[in-house]
Amino acid sequence: LSSSQTSTSFVLSSADSNGFTSNSVYKYFSNNEFVSSSFEDKLLQVTNPATGDVIAHVPSSLSPDEFQTVMDRAQEAFRTWRTVPPQQRQRLFLEYQRLIRQHTDELEELITLENGKTLADARGDVFRGLEVVETACQIASSHLLGDSLAGVSRNMDCISYREPLGVCAGIAPFNFPAMIPLWMFPLAIAAGNAFVLKPSEKTPGSSMKLAQLAVEAGFPPNVLQVVHGSTEMVQKICQHPYIRAISFVGSNVAGESIYQQGTLHGKRVQANLGAKNHAVVLPDAMNKQAVVQALVGAAFGAAGQRCMALSVVIFVGVDWVDDLKHAARELTVGPGWETGVDVGPLITKESKERVKNIIGQAVSEGAELILDGRDVTVEGYRNGNFIGPTILKCASTKNICYREEIFGPVLTCLHVNTLEEAIALINENPYGNGCALFTSSGSTARYFQNEVEVTQVGINTPIPVPLPMFSFTGGKASIRGDLNFYGKSGVHFYTTLKTVTSNWPEIPHSSLGGTTMPTM
Ligand code: NAD
Repeated sequence: LSSSQTSTSFVLSSADSNGFTSNSVYKYFSNNEFVSSSFEDKLLQVTNPATGDVIAHVPSSLSPDEFQTVMDRAQEAFRTWRTVPPQQRQRLFLEYQRLIRQHTDELEELITLENGKTLADARGDVFRGLEVVETACQIASSHLLGDSLAGVSRNMDCISYREPLGVCAGIAPFNFPAMIPLWMFPLAIAAGNAFVLKPSEKTPGSSMKLAQLAVEAGFPPNVLQVVHGSTEMVQKICQHPYIRAISFVGSNVAGESIYQQGTLHGKRVQANLGAKNHAVVLPDAMNKQAVVQALVGAAFGAAGQRCMALSVVIFVGVDWVDDLKHAARELTVGPGWETGVDVGPLITKESKERVKNIIGQAVSEGAELILDGRDVTVEGYRNGNFIGPTILKCASTKNICYREEIFGPVLTCLHVNTLEEAIALINENPYGNGCALFTSSGSTARYFQNEVEVTQVGINTPIPVPLPMFSFTGGKASIRGDLNFYGKSGVHFYTTLKTVTSNWPEIPHSSLGGTTMPTM
């Protein structure tokens, strides 16, 4: 992967450079153009996590005037866009999904360059977002349809339909740079809203590419705009009176604050937050080898930086920790663009240090270090943020490796005697994002899925991310707000129900006929 391979019309290059250089600054996207922000006195670095190189900069916010212009344009665009027939709006996404397919390679490269995950994994990132775009192509005949009941009283009928809200905003995390923005703006826009997206300041590239494709697909100006920055920009979004709804995905620290600020300012907020996902392995689990591979893939893929990453395995009456260790040792750590690499780098140097410290503290609190990835070396990439697969065996749920969302390639193993104990342990955990059970018994699986309080359950599958005809949910501390991303719930989040009860008194039959001009 070379910097010259990436399209750069959305970055402002220095006079004598092409492509990403440390002088390049991302523009924001408004009026279907890429615009330089005047807010360039405070820039944030975008780094390549595999090399540590600064590849571009991003403004830490927009100036107040720039942001107000973005808001005015969004409001104006909404007035027209809401009147465009839904069939016509969804037709736009037929072209958009075609363009995403056509440009998947470029999106994939931008993701790997800025996020670090492998190219194959980045392809999955784009694909899972694309599937949501596909559902936007049929929104008029599915989730946007309303209800009606004729004759609720004499001469009275009742209909309810879904209307767009207005200007909606999305605040995205670094770990799925294409998928999560695509969870947000396609459904919002297909439903008739205008959308302002703020990608993660660590991985803005794929959002800019998606904006470029939106222009190509024929999006009218300002139904989609993209702004940049971190906390300061987010505060502006949470407070602006034109914004009716905010979609957020990210950490608990940011999400709790955005939920409070957004709702305080009268907005709808859906916020998907952190996780601690457990898998339970029973003695009757089918095909040990396949289960071990599934656990290892789910724990260490994307260097554990997935909200649905597997962070805890609970063994009930079996002990496959050694098997996990042998399988994890086979994984290759390295830059995401190299063939054969399984585990890429962590997003920042700070993340790497944080994960190393948690492993150290876990050991000092009594955990047994089964596999230690802290000192992994990747030839030619001394400045990369690499940590190899790490496995800890721990007896106490008070240990930091069990308490914290680590968000790195660290798997914690626990042992209990019964399935009931395993379920109790999962239910006591504050998070409720995903969990899994490995068994060959249908009735045991049914018992587990009924008793467990986590809302995304995998049976013999370790990362149960719901397909786009369903919704991505999450429970307890993993979520704020009650309408979920994509699927029916996603469309409901971006729309409001209007109910019309109409009374049309009967006109006497005789007054309808006749050849004489009516004289009132
Ligand atoms: P993050 O919270 O640091 O950043 C997410 C977004 O919030 C970014 O756009 C960032 O600019 C902004 N932000 C950061 N700190 C903020 C603050 N204090 N106030 C206001 N805004 C702030 O998250 P991240 O590191 O980019 O992503 C990793 C986290 O996201 C993990 O906790 C992971 O579990 C979670 N996540 C959850 C899901 C889910 O569906 N539940 C999916 C993906 C990621």
